[in-house]
Amino acid sequence: MEKTFKLSQTAVERLAESYGTPLLILSSEQIKRNYNMLAEYLPGVHLYYAVKSNPNETIVRTLAELGSCFDVASDGEMQALTAMGIEPHRMVYANPVKTAGGLATARCTGINKFTFDSESEIGKMAKAVPGGAVLLRIRVDNPKALVDLNKKFGAHPDDALRLLRLAREQGLDVAGLCFHVGSQSVSSEAYYDALRICRRLFDQAAAEGFNLRVLDIGGGFPIPALNETIDIPGILTEINTGVQKYFPHTEIWAEPGRFICGTAMNLITRVIGTQERNHQQWYFLDDGLYGTFSAVIFDHWEFELETFKKGELIPATFAGPSCDSLDIMFRDKLTQRLELDDLILVPNCGSYTSASATVFNGFAKTPIIVWEEVQHLFDASEQLAAAV
Ligand SMILES: *Cc1c(COP(=O)(O)O)cnc(C)c1O
Repeated sequence: MEKTFKLSQTAVERLAESYGTPLLILSSEQIKRNYNMLAEYLPGVHLYYAVKSNPNETIVRTLAELGSCFDVASDGEMQALTAMGIEPHRMVYANPVKTAGGLATARCTGINKFTFDSESEIGKMAKAVPGGAVLLRIRVDNPKALVDLNKKFGAHPDDALRLLRLAREQGLDVAGLCFHVGSQSVSSEAYYDALRICRRLFDQAAAEGFNLRVLDIGGGFPIPALNETIDIPGILTEINTGVQKYFPHTEIWAEPGRFICGTAMNLITRVIGTQERNHQQWYFLDDGLYGTFSAVIFDHWEFELETFKKGELIPATFAGPSCDSLDIMFRDKLTQRLELDDLILVPNCGSYTSASATVFNGFAKTPIIVWEEVQHLFDASEQLAAAV
């Protein structure tokens, strides 16, 4: 496995001293490593970074320089990327149910690639973006995914040909199919199921005179997770083999989110309160469920807490800084004993964390600094210790 970005204890202490806590540290080098790894394992595949996983400007600019394209889902994302100089042909508006404002923004910025999964969307697109290139999103069931998006999105395969015909009748450019197996999918099986379904639909469509030219295999590529050893190179190799087997002559797109940004951020948070409640140890942190730890709810994510302490492990409850009783991140989480003001490092904090954080109760979003811009603060030996 490639090395992933994790700060050393010295770096954590120095950064907390210089910038305060809570603090998110982003490594643009890790973003590059992740992008390049995916490009290497999925050769020839056009990568559209799913901006929703982390819209940070340094991430978007770093990827833009590497030649990435982008999956956007709202007028806000389209406007932000357009303001950064990203050309419209590098974006796909990949939200199967689009808003009026989103369609208007796509039209005036020149974004002309869309996904859909229903009849009602066809009329909307034909009116707002006539002749637009559209991909029909197919539903693929994947009970093994951490986040199953197929309950909300995707047309049933039995309905696909009817929807393609309708889109063609309304003057849209029927370009292909797409799917999303669900997020943090830890086996390639769901991709194979989806590839087989799409191959059959491509052939049936060809028999009806369609010339489908694009297959978008979505996102969901896993990142290293706690308590799980995932053979990521193995999974990516299998996916690539499947794509080559079923679609050797088709233009392939993918929409990676977490894979690109998940390992690229570390959080430094501080213990701001300790107490015993009902014979359970409680620790209050200065970042919480409404902040960076929002991934606990939105992404069902388990975080690793690095306390830099040795000694026995005790079960503890970790709560965030707000006054809401929902603001509890972990219960019965095993940890070393902590004290007021202790610093905790949380690695692999890049996806669906600050992206979905709120400023509820007046707590500002945790600031993000870029490691490569601040590492000059450290001498060479400390720098080496920081990327493990
Ligand atoms: C969320 C999303 C993605 C990214 O999923 P990851 O699990 O972060 O890779 C890609 N495509 C679509 C349409 C999405 O909604």
